[in-house]
Amino acid sequence: MDRIAARLAEVARDGRYILGPEVSAFEREFAAYLGTDHAVGVGNGTDALTIALRAVGVQAGDEVVCPSLTFYASAESIVNAGARPVFCDVDPDTLCVTPDSVCPHLTDRTRAIVAVHLFGNVAPVADLRELGLPVVEDAAQAAGARLHGARAGALGDAATFSFFPSKNLPCLGDGGAITTSSDEVAERARSLRFHGSSDKKTHTEVGYNSRLDSLQAAVLRLLLPELDGWNRRRRAAALAYAEAGMAEFAQLPVTTTGAEHVYHLYVVRSAEPDRLQEALSGAGVQARGYYRTPVHRQPAMSAFAGGELPVTDAAARTLLALPMGPELADEQVESVVVAAAGARAPA
Ligand SMILES: *Cc1c(COP(=O)(O)O)cnc(C)c1O
Repeated sequence: MDRIAARLAEVARDGRYILGPEVSAFEREFAAYLGTDHAVGVGNGTDALTIALRAVGVQAGDEVVCPSLTFYASAESIVNAGARPVFCDVDPDTLCVTPDSVCPHLTDRTRAIVAVHLFGNVAPVADLRELGLPVVEDAAQAAGARLHGARAGALGDAATFSFFPSKNLPCLGDGGAITTSSDEVAERARSLRFHGSSDKKTHTEVGYNSRLDSLQAAVLRLLLPELDGWNRRRRAAALAYAEAGMAEFAQLPVTTTGAEHVYHLYVVRSAEPDRLQEALSGAGVQARGYYRTPVHRQPAMSAFAGGELPVTDAAARTLLALPMGPELADEQVESVVVAAAGARAPA
């Protein structure tokens, strides 16, 4: 924190608060880390999605296929880009979208696919791209994850990140980025984040005011070198859950073949999640149900609800996030598993 405070004071003295050299430097460093040609800093992960969708060519009236088992913003951004979200189911093991789950929803109006890297797992983006449509990765939960060696964020036509304080790569407020290796998509995203203007004088389209602040970029530059170490510790905690026997009490998360999961959240499945949550809570362990109301069942999405999504609905009833983070010690993991055993003991 001292290092961050000192750096913030320097940037505050510098006086350039929005975009500027700190943001450009972070954009270069983040793109290099991911292995993309470009990163474009924006105000938050939701704006990143809206802008990325428009930058890959989504227009008013288009359809965009996206999962319902995700944070609401994955779909909200589609509506804000002027398009129509078409909700698809997810793979019953990995809980990510796959060609099998997306295909039934493709029409001649489909213009893009949003592939959410749920909970830090990675969706099979190369397989999805074979469907012949632009794929936008929602990598908000997957900073640092990999698939067959390549980073999440470098797999699709464009990808989006959130630096909200709870994410794997956090800043001290709101922040986000779009990443891509297309010069055209990057240029369009840079224009859209600044009122649809490339030269700050001529406005070629209606855009947004959504930029990354210099102060946040300075923090992100300090924290990016920590990301791999933090993710290693998250993976070690996930391994500790398995080794301590958590699988006796719930179904453990399943990683996509070839992926390096970064466990933004450690989410298990239980036939009786409330009972498990109560047993944990009795032992002072906080667990949270995830996406109990999946996006296609949210009131604001009723116009787009579509057909049945059985895997999503079943997951929404059973998912429970256990404690997870870079600071979580093996002993804490073991005490969570001991507490979970209590859910089984006779009342
Ligand atoms: C956090 C999150 C977002 C939105 O990010 P914000 O920075 O909060 O706008 C989008 N999609 C997913 C999957 C997220 O987890």
